[in-house]
Amino acid sequence: MFLPITIEEARKRGWAELDVVFVTGDAYIDHPAFGVPLLAHWLEFHGFRVGIIPQPDWKTKEPFMALGRPRLFFAVSAGAMDSMVAHYTPARKLRRDDAYTPGNRHGARPNRATIVYTSRLKEAYKDVPVVIGGIEASLRRFAHYDFWEDRVRRSILFDAKADLLVYGMGERPLLELAERLRRGEAFGEITDIRGTAHIGRGGFETRPCKVEIPSCEDVAGDRMKYAEAFRLISPEQNPFCAQPIAQRHGDRYLVCNPPSLPLTEQELDFVYALPFARAPHPSYKEPIPACEQIKASITTHRGCFGGCAFCAITHHQGKTIQSRSAASILDEIKRLTELTWFHGSISDIGGPTANMYGLRCGNPKAQAQCRKGSCLHPSPCNHLITDGRRGAELLKRVRASAGVKHVAVSSGVRYDLLDRQPEYLKELLAHHVGGLLKIAPEHIEEKVTALMRKPGKKEFERFLAHFKAESARLGKKQYILPYFISGHPGCTLSDMVELALFLKRNGLRVEQVQDFTPTPGTLSTSIYYTGIDPFTGKEVYVPRSDREKRLQKSLLLCHLPEERKNVLQALKACGREAAAVELLAGFTSNSKKALTPATK
Ligand code: SF4
Repeated sequence: MFLPITIEEARKRGWAELDVVFVTGDAYIDHPAFGVPLLAHWLEFHGFRVGIIPQPDWKTKEPFMALGRPRLFFAVSAGAMDSMVAHYTPARKLRRDDAYTPGNRHGARPNRATIVYTSRLKEAYKDVPVVIGGIEASLRRFAHYDFWEDRVRRSILFDAKADLLVYGMGERPLLELAERLRRGEAFGEITDIRGTAHIGRGGFETRPCKVEIPSCEDVAGDRMKYAEAFRLISPEQNPFCAQPIAQRHGDRYLVCNPPSLPLTEQELDFVYALPFARAPHPSYKEPIPACEQIKASITTHRGCFGGCAFCAITHHQGKTIQSRSAASILDEIKRLTELTWFHGSISDIGGPTANMYGLRCGNPKAQAQCRKGSCLHPSPCNHLITDGRRGAELLKRVRASAGVKHVAVSSGVRYDLLDRQPEYLKELLAHHVGGLLKIAPEHIEEKVTALMRKPGKKEFERFLAHFKAESARLGKKQYILPYFISGHPGCTLSDMVELALFLKRNGLRVEQVQDFTPTPGTLSTSIYYTGIDPFTGKEVYVPRSDREKRLQKSLLLCHLPEERKNVLQALKACGREAAAVELLAGFTSNSKKALTPATK
């Protein structure tokens, strides 16, 4: 059931005023894949009157008053993506579309939406507290490098002038905050909730912080200090042993409490049983691409323990896998099959990494003290349980559900785990990839994959052989569609030549290349900005010029005739002209044909 987006809709529910009003940069799609509707339903279930203001016109304060003054607080999110990532390409060019807006139209949210929305809310209701959250606030909670301004910005909590910041998954912190306010505690005195950050004046207020990282001013002026801050923050992401962190900004402090504890299986099941309409709000007249993409998808778990350096998921969702029970997933599928528009195809069953469903750290004592950013890098931890049988069994049961004709796994998979998951791999290849397995090695050169915290060439080759054997055993003609990143810190033109040669020798072609974007808060972004690996202190080569980035990308697309000129330029620039014969041989087809995956 939809939550109110107008005061009339609130009154129809018998609500004269609301307790919490969410403001979001996305259209309102009532689906559990979107954070704001999920949290709004969660609070509503716990007895709070909740409304949503989606994509308000930010030029005046009036649209922010659509639901009146909430009794407890406003909760602001830029949406499912950082607003700058949503608005600009990796080359900092303005995008023309926005998949989270009706009609796929650009321009429904401002740049730096969290800051702008908070400012309008403060104009409208100066004395109502504003809580900021979502991926934009979460990953910008400390002083951070901003690619679009090419400078270090202070914590978004200071820039937004909000009252509290919720980072990571918001169920526990938001509920605790709302309940304590309902019990009569003063907003300004609630500073101890896990998964939140607030502004303190120092002294008594920062005393619980055993970790103080270099100040905003220090990290803005000194690359080594920036790297040091990143190194100190990283181990404090384990909710079972993290310490509060303080970072001075001028004469005040950002005080960041330890992360929220993961939800239990029972709690997660409960969240996904909330009454979502699985549709956009009926006021929208045009389709919303993001909704079309996810409306028939099922989330099986949260979290990712891969710790890839460029990825924001570990930072936002955490390293602990929180899996739903099979009963809860099958129950959601039953409800999905009862919807009139559902014709039997589940578009995805997975999570941040599909084959991590049901996996966990097998040693609670070690987990309680673990300071590692990845359970897989540099090699899989001995304590990690990688058994894919629970995931394989789930896929079988989902396929067998009444009303389900086809189930795709379109979430990413970690191929280095698949080697240890024969049952899951068998199910995946036999029934769920439609002959084309998409995987993301991202690179194959050891020095680059080591920085990315990804498996290297040997692991990829081993997986290719395994994939080939398994496909043959199943009697299927299957293909691999690999994804790679160009322009990542540590990657030279020569490294890209090696990757292009590897692809050629293995009969692989890429469909699209992701040009590295230094998004806020990640390890790769820290290396991009500082040119230093924060964990070793070593200098790292960083491709920064537009020309080099373009040439790196072209090398991966060397099978396209239109890239030929750039490829020759790239080879010349790194003294690898000798590779031209091998690299360009046989690529005379037109570009459309060249995009067809190569046969394995
Ligand atoms: S002890 Fe190993 S498996 Fe457990 S959380 Fe740490 S790295 Fe992961």
